[in-house]
Amino acid sequence: MLYIDFHTHHLPTENGVVAVVDGRDTWGIHPWRAYPQHLPEERGESKSFPLGEDLGEASRCLAIGECGLDALRGASMERQEEVFLQHIALSERLGKPLIVHCVKALDRLLRLRREQKPTMPWMLHGFRGKPQQLRSLLDAGFYIGFGFRHNAESLRLCPVERLLLETDDQPQSITLLYRKVAEERGIEVADLCDEMGKNYRKFFSRHPLPL
Ligand SMILES: [Zn+2]
Repeated sequence: MLYIDFHTHHLPTENGVVAVVDGRDTWGIHPWRAYPQHLPEERGESKSFPLGEDLGEASRCLAIGECGLDALRGASMERQEEVFLQHIALSERLGKPLIVHCVKALDRLLRLRREQKPTMPWMLHGFRGKPQQLRSLLDAGFYIGFGFRHNAESLRLCPVERLLLETDDQPQSITLLYRKVAEERGIEVADLCDEMGKNYRKFFSRHPLPL
């Protein structure tokens, strides 16, 4: 069985795990760090934000992010929105999906998505919200990333074809999360692995699973 970790800050150490590692496989500026001094072009550097237009380098990148909006931390919301818009544009230009961090800014996120009309898939990572927020995100077309900390009802309600599993910054094994989620949803771990494999192929359609 293959366990896919759709968003993590740790390198995988177990066999049978495919991990999408932030900073290695996905590139972007986290909203906590979205201050002017972190934007290369504003420091007068030649490399443009955040990948440069080096397409050789960009081809190794699976997705853009994590990026997004956090009303509790980081720069002003106006600044965060400006930086997030640059990530959205880059995601569309390079044809890469987007990994989104969003804390207490769901309305703003949904508005931006309506305005920008992206063609690339977006993952709202680390979702802990209630079913009502889940519904808004599903209606807007998001994939939803669930980790160890989640709303149990939302996890059960999320259609499997929009569900992505992630350890994020947690130290526990992704295999443990698959077992927990399989139990909560009342399905077999092997079936969950199959479904996540299908979702990987859809979400990262330009990047075959590294088997
Ligand atoms: Zn993260």
